Amino acid sequence: MTNCIEIKGLSKSYGDFALKNIDLTLPGGSILGLIGENGAGKTTTIKCILNLIHRDAGEITLLGYDNIREERLAKQDIGLVLDECFFSDALRPLDLDKILAPAYREWDRKLFRSYLDKFDLPEKKLIKEFSRGMKMKLSLSAALAHHPRLLILDEATAGLDPVVRDEILDEFLGFIQDEDHAILMSSHITSDLEKVADYIAYIHQGEVVLSDAKDSILDSYGRVGCTAAQLDNIDPRDILRTRKGTFGCEALVGDRVAFSRKYPMLLVERTTLEDIMLFVGKGETK
Ligand code: ATP
Repeated sequence: MTNCIEIKGLSKSYGDFALKNIDLTLPGGSILGLIGENGAGKTTTIKCILNLIHRDAGEITLLGYDNIREERLAKQDIGLVLDECFFSDALRPLDLDKILAPAYREWDRKLFRSYLDKFDLPEKKLIKEFSRGMKMKLSLSAALAHHPRLLILDEATAGLDPVVRDEILDEFLGFIQDEDHAILMSSHITSDLEKVADYIAYIHQGEVVLSDAKDSILDSYGRVGCTAAQLDNIDPRDILRTRKGTFGCEALVGDRVAFSRKYPMLLVERTTLEDIMLFVGKGETK
């Protein structure tokens, strides 16, 4: 299996914010979900991947191509969907077909129209009359219609209703059935990533604080609800983060099974990506 994205030692400083030494790998046939609080550095990472901004250090390979020296070659095989539709409101889907066809070596008119059909998008309606969900589906149709091998999606499912999101997530799962294909998607909708991502990378204040297979994260991390007295009796080395509330305390543990063995009186529950983010974003270390 080849890697569709390899990022090594990526750094970028904006003065008061810095992406620090980011390492990420996206193997073929898989989906990498990028999570992180607002302002954590997800879009900055994606902009560096796409060479839209200058990086200070690091190396990025996309589909085996250097993202700067071989940018044009890499981009022919990349489909991009950002959180806003960047097509002019004055166009209609069928105009896009004419505009985008010359830009891509492998633009597939039939495939584009089949996506319009699949997503119930009117070919002749002005884009300004499209709803947000329709615009997103249109962006995705255009991103997929040139047979990309890599999809890069920045908050592409934000603001979409659960039915539309489910449809789009299904499309993503179909896309990565080919081992040469892969998807990098940033999202605040962690439940979407729990459904489709194979790997999760969590960026917090410009650093990757967690990067692993999703199943391994969800199978090993756990949440313990306890009293302040019980929390005091836990060895700080056995917990990653704590949160103290009016009704008790909570702790995040990195190895649920080992924790349960050592503290059989405490109940350890499975945790979610959202929980982990809340612990890292709002919790404390013991
Ligand atoms: P969100 O979830 O809100 O989209 P994000 O994780 O995508 O957040 P980024 O857009 O990467 O976050 O922003 C990371 C930091 O970089 C923020 O502090 C932001 O203010 C800063 N930043 C982004 N673009 C610029 C810029 N052009 N000049 C200066 N600072 C910038």
